[in-house]
Amino acid sequence: YAVDFTGKTAVVTGGTKGIGRATVLKLAQLGANVKALGRSGLEQFADVPNVEGVYCDLGNTSEATEILNGLGDIDLLVNNAGITYLAPLETHDIAEFEKVMTVNVTGSLVAGQAAARSMLARQAKGAIVNVSSQASTVGLPDHTAYCVSKGAMDQLTRMMAVELGPRGIRVNSVNPTVVLTDMGKAAWSDEAKAAPMLARIPLRRFAEEEDVVDAIVYLLSERAGMVHGAILPVDGGFWAA
Ligand code: NDP
Repeated sequence: YAVDFTGKTAVVTGGTKGIGRATVLKLAQLGANVKALGRSGLEQFADVPNVEGVYCDLGNTSEATEILNGLGDIDLLVNNAGITYLAPLETHDIAEFEKVMTVNVTGSLVAGQAAARSMLARQAKGAIVNVSSQASTVGLPDHTAYCVSKGAMDQLTRMMAVELGPRGIRVNSVNPTVVLTDMGKAAWSDEAKAAPMLARIPLRRFAEEEDVVDAIVYLLSERAGMVHGAILPVDGGFWAA
């Protein structure tokens, strides 16, 4: 059967660009009412049916909490917003480290709390997908803040799964390899860096946005009704190698 999200309200953080934007458009196409959160480019959704752009800076936890709590009913949440900061460990800037942790980890928790409260209050059978990374279980040079934040996100997925599952909310994670979005290009467009990474991916290619979106849609849908607490690689086999 086809996936149909008609009647569901979905929230996608970092919905203005890259993987998040592709997810927003796909969920709307599949019938959901989608709230696309971000700080810029919200006007791009003005004429897109079923999509509403909502300003939300996850770098400001208290302001973001207020915005997320004010979104109303949430049936589906995609914790996609994420940032990176690249520098060698010994010169890793602590303010930048904390910013990455605030947006990637605290932001996902705060959005998860808002979604959980909305679902529990209505006894709705909701679903949450956290967008983590292949970087959650390995160390990549210069990626200290990012790798630490994604390792924490995987643990957040497990915590959310353990606590929310008994009350009807499914929570899973997708862990993509490199996708050449703005973020992916910043870290991997240099061929000298990309070549050894590609060599570690058995399918010998980076992921496309659609590869990640398809996995997110599956995990949000009833087709994944017994899939819970999964950390799903979308990595062309990087973790298997
Ligand atoms: P992009 O840089 O293309 O997009 C990031 C999104 O996050 C934007 O919509 C941006 O919106 C939003 N965002 C950034 N900072 C904030 C903030 N302070 N508050 C709210 N929203 C914010 O990234 P990708 O699409 O590549 O990444 C999406 C997710 O996928 C991230 O979690 C990333 O870690 C993960 N991922 C990416 C990979 C890759 O290679 N690209 C590989 C594996 C995982 P705005 O600027 O409007 O605020």
